[in-house]
Amino acid sequence: MKIVNPATEDVVADVEAADPAEVDRAVERARTAYAAWRQVSPGDRARLLRRFADLVGEHGEELARLELANAGHPIGNARWEAGAVRDVLHFYAGAPERDHGKQIPVPGGVDVTFQEPLGVVGVIVPWNFPMLIMSWGVAPALAAGNTVIVKPAEWTPLTALRLAELALAAGLPEGVLQVLPGVGEVAGARLVEHPDVAKIVFTGSTEVGKEIAAKAAAQVKRVTLELGGKSANIIFADADLDRAAQAAPYAVFDNAGQDCCARSRLLVQASVYDAFMERLTEAVRGVVVGDPLDESTEMGPLISAEHLDRVRGFVQESAPYLQGSCPGGKGYWFPPTVLTPDVTDRTFTEEIFGPVVSVAPFEDEADAVRIANDTPYGLSGSIWTRDVGRALRVSRAVEAGALSVNSNASVRYWTPFGGFKQSGLGRELGPDALAAFTETKNVFISWE
Ligand code: NAD
Repeated sequence: MKIVNPATEDVVADVEAADPAEVDRAVERARTAYAAWRQVSPGDRARLLRRFADLVGEHGEELARLELANAGHPIGNARWEAGAVRDVLHFYAGAPERDHGKQIPVPGGVDVTFQEPLGVVGVIVPWNFPMLIMSWGVAPALAAGNTVIVKPAEWTPLTALRLAELALAAGLPEGVLQVLPGVGEVAGARLVEHPDVAKIVFTGSTEVGKEIAAKAAAQVKRVTLELGGKSANIIFADADLDRAAQAAPYAVFDNAGQDCCARSRLLVQASVYDAFMERLTEAVRGVVVGDPLDESTEMGPLISAEHLDRVRGFVQESAPYLQGSCPGGKGYWFPPTVLTPDVTDRTFTEEIFGPVVSVAPFEDEADAVRIANDTPYGLSGSIWTRDVGRALRVSRAVEAGALSVNSNASVRYWTPFGGFKQSGLGRELGPDALAAFTETKNVFISWE
């Protein structure tokens, strides 16, 4: 596979794609490694994960530059992502000694539960946040005593490969964490079908997620699915309009809109619509799009020519209300774009996954909630208001897994993350993620 820098169109690496036979060999290695890994004492497993986290920290700049070259992320974002991978590993390094069961009172003996690891876990990763999303599956899976095979996205395998080397250097035994670059329909599909893979963690499109869930059902294979989104950013008339408008572009143009949490539907109360749009226009014009290596860059290119065509296709259908600027020449550039379509238009209903926000007015609280929920997705969203009661009512009414009030932040490694409806199944991150990588076993011991 030719790996291309999306900002320059230069080929930065050539990577071999795994075929089904290579996947089978990797599963065999992971199965062998599992027998020993699950027996590693909790303290030693924790120490190995901490050492892995420390090594990621020491190589943070290198990883950030690799992500920049492979995915076009601005250097500031890429550094944050490398730091977040380190933190996710540190957080779950605290888990092995705390992954305890219960003692439940019963007559005639003692009843205890154990959290047993599942076995070999397959983690299938998208291209939008390659190393970060990989760490969300890998860290809790390893902490719980599983072995892991990662299938990175076709376009972005470089940081995943480097992380596997760092894991080995940290002392994780051979076969505990493997990375297999390959084509989704070949290597990814084989992982899903393989009878010795106990669980699949899939992050990607809703379409492929449904296919994986259907295939996994044939073996009652465990799945965690993190899928698409079309999240709403709801601005009430009583909000701090300056702050809300200043923040709104970054809630959707961050990572060039290639973010499952992107607040790509902006709902503005009709009574302040004009006042808000004036502020939004100024904020969008201020977004700095350009060379990812430049420290002041806020938005880079799209991932590929193919994806650029797809995003362009959406925008060609409706005249933009406003477009910011972006570099010309080489690279897959698209400017920050604001649309004001009808709420039935596909730019308002479908995930574009590019720097495009669709704005619509609403009348009152009930109208805002109705529009926000009128989607098969339910990943994230924001509510801007100074009324605490309204903030709570709307937070409870919006059908989404990760909401923020007077903020657009939705991901912290120590809080749960995942989608309602067709945005996903299960939760990652936070204190409960470990449960998704273990089975609860109940044992009764008679004292007779
Ligand atoms: P995608 O579904 O095309 O691919 C994701 C991964 O699945 C890739 O590694 C791909 O090779 C693999 N794959 C493709 N077909 C497969 C198959 N038949 N069997 C097994 N594996 C297969 O998604 P993408 O274009 O890489 O990523 C963009 C999508 O991911 C967007 O919809 C976005 O919203 C979603 N996403 C969701 C989250 C979340 O946490 N909810 C996070 C990031 C991205």
